[in-house]
Amino acid sequence: MRPLIAGNWKMNGVGESLAEICAVAQWIAETGPNADIFIFPPFTLVARAVVAASNRIGIGGQDCHALPSGAFTGDVSAEMLADAGATAVIVGHSERRQSCRLTDAMVAARTTAARRAGLLAIVCIGETAEQHDGGLAQNVVIAQLEGSIPPDANSTTTVVAYEPIWAIGTGRTPSLEEISRMHSCIRAQLEGRFGEDGSRLRILYGGSVNTTNAATILAAPNVDGALVGGASLRAGEFAEIVGTSTGSSSLRSPFAL
Ligand code: PEP
Repeated sequence: MRPLIAGNWKMNGVGESLAEICAVAQWIAETGPNADIFIFPPFTLVARAVVAASNRIGIGGQDCHALPSGAFTGDVSAEMLADAGATAVIVGHSERRQSCRLTDAMVAARTTAARRAGLLAIVCIGETAEQHDGGLAQNVVIAQLEGSIPPDANSTTTVVAYEPIWAIGTGRTPSLEEISRMHSCIRAQLEGRFGEDGSRLRILYGGSVNTTNAATILAAPNVDGALVGGASLRAGEFAEIVGTSTGSSSLRSPFAL
């Protein structure tokens, strides 16, 4: 499966940060990594990021409303993102689930909105530290998967990102065995629900991926890419992670520190 590496900039980046996108785009042009690459800047940068990406990197929004338009101050619709040139959107990120009190049903509605607007939806799921420590991770993730992915999803419109909340931005990651176990559990659920297409639906791992751990994590079974937060902000680190995902040691970022 062609890996997908996505960089989530969260609430980081102003106009001058577009130089990082230009640098990654140039690196892609020179090395041609065998991976789908996306960057999710804040809404304010989406249209300019599309220009900076020169069709080499997909640009997406970090969330979208379920409706195309209306009286929802501060929200942005999937159609608006598409109009700005975006080709993807993250839905159900744990930080949005928390700050917007998103239920699984609301995440599913946003996933449907993404499809309606022709955007690839990256649907995030993952357990809290308490759920993890209490041995509930698989049950929580199965329920989120069931509730957040609409029945008409398929492998060309939807990607799942497993992001244990306790691993996001903390420098902590699950053991490789835990990642493999969870990803094979997610794969089994997807195949049970979507049949053969469920085996093609990409499952990303997210949570403190960096240049040191990316190779090991990305080589694990049923890990089809990564959702990268902090380490996606600098072109050098991000390109190095992308290079790792292709399994080719000759693909090294010229910007690597
Ligand atoms: C994220 O924002 O989805 C994420 C995984 O962040 P980080 O890589 O910084 O843990």
